[in-house]
Amino acid sequence: MTNDLSRRGVLEMGLGAALAAPALTVAGDAQAQPRDHDSVGVAVVGLGKLSQEQILPALKRTKGAHLAALVSGVPEKAKKWATEFGLSGSAIYDYRNFDTIAQDPAVQIVYIVLPNSMHADFTVRSFKAGKHVLCEKPMAVTLAECERMIRAGKAAKRQLMIAYRCQYDPFNVTAMQLMRKGVIGTPRLVNAVMGKQTDLADPSDAWRLDMAMSGGGALADMGVYGINGTRYLLNEEPTEVRGWARTDKSDPRFRTVEDMIAWQMRFPSGAIGDGSSCFSQPGTMTWQAIGTDRRLVADPGCFYGGNVMKIVGDKSYPQPQVKEIDQFGNEMNWFADVVRGRAPNVSPGEEGLQDMRIMHAIMQSVANGGTAVKTDFGYKRSYDPATVVGIRTAI
Ligand code: NDP
Repeated sequence: MTNDLSRRGVLEMGLGAALAAPALTVAGDAQAQPRDHDSVGVAVVGLGKLSQEQILPALKRTKGAHLAALVSGVPEKAKKWATEFGLSGSAIYDYRNFDTIAQDPAVQIVYIVLPNSMHADFTVRSFKAGKHVLCEKPMAVTLAECERMIRAGKAAKRQLMIAYRCQYDPFNVTAMQLMRKGVIGTPRLVNAVMGKQTDLADPSDAWRLDMAMSGGGALADMGVYGINGTRYLLNEEPTEVRGWARTDKSDPRFRTVEDMIAWQMRFPSGAIGDGSSCFSQPGTMTWQAIGTDRRLVADPGCFYGGNVMKIVGDKSYPQPQVKEIDQFGNEMNWFADVVRGRAPNVSPGEEGLQDMRIMHAIMQSVANGGTAVKTDFGYKRSYDPATVVGIRTAI
């Protein structure tokens, strides 16, 4: 099963890509890359580290989606990328004139890659402009903002997808499928540890260390992977959480946000999720699922590449082999297919809101010295990525 998945994961970048005939090309490096005849135009909003290092390079390789516009507060940077993609000056917007994108038929999707505190406003503005929205994680800063984003998408009859790349990535999808097959036996514990070093002098970290802009430091930035990952590995929702903080308040990085948050989540099956997020440790995105028969260990498990998964506790069991794909290209192709009605939206706004509610409950517990906080919000995911994304990668 895993070999199949890995082979297929490399071969395909989406059902739409497989079905559609190549038609258009873009300039620059991407010239040789054939596109679907109905490839969807994407406006990337915010040209920071993630956009420049991952998303824009990935957009040169996507078949279902292509770069159609750039939105930035720095015109020179936007011009440089527009030239690289063969786009004219009219495809460049700034944050003030952004709403005029409504008159740009080349743009169907707005991909929001801004600091978290700006996600809600730009999502709502994009929906008002009649566009679909792919929004980076965490969904927003407050629960009210998340609800506003969901309402705006429904009112506009447009799709909202939260950019949980791991839910579309064959590596994590394989892990989910192994869990569903009972490879580890009955799951008892999922442990997830997420963290990195931060530097106040780095503008990309400065807003992450600002409560108003990030909505919660390491927990909001990286802990969200651990919480989302525990939920998708176990395929159930926690009913109770507890949290504790460990922060050196004399460290100038942690004037407004906590550093380490450790959490526990209790699930209806009896399984327990525990984990931590931290902004003063080496780069870590690891998880392990411990069951009655075996352990599934991913270290790292959520990096952009180089992830390693092992089944531990049974030497005779075949080890999973998953070939890497471009996670951002894959995710954008998936959303393009959602927009074109060819794929389900596996991570809609409701999925982002669920993580936000859990993180808020953890912070409530932290504030109350680790007391248990109920999290039975009645959320049930519409699609299990293990099933729908797994099937898709089979095509
Ligand atoms: P950066 O700080 O590197 O980039 C953010 C960009 O937003 C800036 O470069 C700037 O673009 C724009 N911006 C507009 N207003 C502000 C402001 N007041 N302060 C700072 N930036 C502003 O952040 P990242 O690219 O690392 O992160 C962006 C989003 O992507 C976040 O929500 C983050 O959580 C998410 N992310 C997701 C990852 C994933 O794996 N899915 C990984 C990393 C980040 P410009 O100069 O063009 O105006």
